[in-house]
Amino acid sequence: MTKPTTTNTGVPVPSDSDSLTAGTQGPILLHDHYLIEKLAQFNRERVPERIVHAKGAGAYGELVVTNDVSRYTKAKLFRPGARTESLARFSTVAGEQGSPDTWRDPRGFAVKFYTEDGNYDLVGNNTPIFFIKDPLEFPDFIRSQKRLPGSGLRDHNMQWDFWTLRPETAHQVTWLMGDRGIPKTYRHMNGYGSHTYQWINAAGERFWVKYHFKTDQGIDHLTQAEADRLAGADADYHRRDLYEAIDRGEFPSWTLYVQVMPVAEAEGYRFNPFDLTKVWSHRDYPLIEVGKWTLNRNPGNYFVDVEQAAFEPSNVVPGIGFSPDKMLLGRVFAYADAHRYRIGTNYAQLPPNRARAAEVNSYSKEGAMRYDYNDANVPVYAPNSFGGPHADPERAPDGGVWEFAPTVVRSGYIEHAEDGDFAQAGTLVRAVFDDEQRDRLVDNIVGHVLGGVREPVLSRVFEYWKNVDAELGKRVEEGVRAGLDG
Ligand code: NDP
Repeated sequence: MTKPTTTNTGVPVPSDSDSLTAGTQGPILLHDHYLIEKLAQFNRERVPERIVHAKGAGAYGELVVTNDVSRYTKAKLFRPGARTESLARFSTVAGEQGSPDTWRDPRGFAVKFYTEDGNYDLVGNNTPIFFIKDPLEFPDFIRSQKRLPGSGLRDHNMQWDFWTLRPETAHQVTWLMGDRGIPKTYRHMNGYGSHTYQWINAAGERFWVKYHFKTDQGIDHLTQAEADRLAGADADYHRRDLYEAIDRGEFPSWTLYVQVMPVAEAEGYRFNPFDLTKVWSHRDYPLIEVGKWTLNRNPGNYFVDVEQAAFEPSNVVPGIGFSPDKMLLGRVFAYADAHRYRIGTNYAQLPPNRARAAEVNSYSKEGAMRYDYNDANVPVYAPNSFGGPHADPERAPDGGVWEFAPTVVRSGYIEHAEDGDFAQAGTLVRAVFDDEQRDRLVDNIVGHVLGGVREPVLSRVFEYWKNVDAELGKRVEEGVRAGLDG
């Protein structure tokens, strides 16, 4: 027998279809409180969409550690053999909630680990680098990738204007215009922590690390033509693929690796290791295997588990810390702040966000929608004489610490020997891409630029690509000029 529909407080309702009216043709009555509840609830069914990474997909899974990296970190989740429940959310960056999954864009690769020392979040992308390196530039960058204020349209001219005025973007834009700019599915892309993080071992020794999740499905991409077709035929193509694969029992997995740099080597390294527009060469710092990360459980409810999921780089656990990467330090503030605005001050109580393997003994108190609280006998202030929790520095993460010359400045990053805005982008084009990939790169750039880029931005676009690689720049200019003439 089906159950009776009830109000939100459990009282059976009289009808699923007819509201209460004064006679069959009379007005609707205000005291039909069930109708009011239903309409009012409906009006409030959305939370604000994320300003970036609005369209996504997620799943639960686990990390199993297969190697011994304890000489680099004491983090419990990376102990040999450790098994840790995890939540992932993949996303596009610039699109809105309903936008096509196959637009050319980096993909978010956010991972939450429910560790016994509290939640650890790695909020990365499917690229090891980013467009910019200072958080002060971030709102401008994102606005340039979003929509024009007047028409509400996306605008390639605005995108290239920003990119060419900030040449530090060259490495990431080269990546974006290459094959990996549109992954075949979320299962067929790598993930990267992107930032440089800190690992601390049991003896207190510190290392700089970068995380790499390499897909076990094999890396694969869509061509621009395939992506354009899918954008119309199935805008949810990537979300569907992830959900259906897990539903079939085909659990996607990634092998987790790290690059580890002893702290003493950072100053002399040929690239500034804290500059988010640069990678550390694999030849200098080879990948060290850590474990296997598998997604094996779909969300029970998309809104609850994925839309309300809140990932924040400020969630670090003992054995892990931050670095002088300014983008990381900016994000340590910005993410938790965004969650408080988007899903409320008590977002950490929501099912995808609450600690699952650790006890929460916080002095946070009350606020909208609070339902979890300490026992009435636990004091609401610290210090206290009545057995309330007290901070224990021995057990807390100490990764907020590193040495630096104590001057307050507003300056760029220290230039290392082989830094420069275009060097690694050029290496990617010349040493990593093959001829076919370079051909597609030229086609993708030309197609994108022909989508509305005008002078004076156009000349800067040619200059930008000539700085990345002379031959590439020449081919881009020829292709665009032929397209404009045609
Ligand atoms: P390597 O030859 O050791 O690394 C090249 C790496 O490039 C590969 O291992 C692969 O990384 C990645 N790659 C392969 N094909 C593509 C592609 N079509 N698009 C984007 N990336 C691709 O040399 P280096 O470590 O010295 O790096 C050389 C250049 O490679 C860098 O300037 C950077 O642009 C790029 N790169 C470097 C990475 C790094 O962490 N060192 C990571 C990714 C790219 P993966 O296995 O991660 O897919």
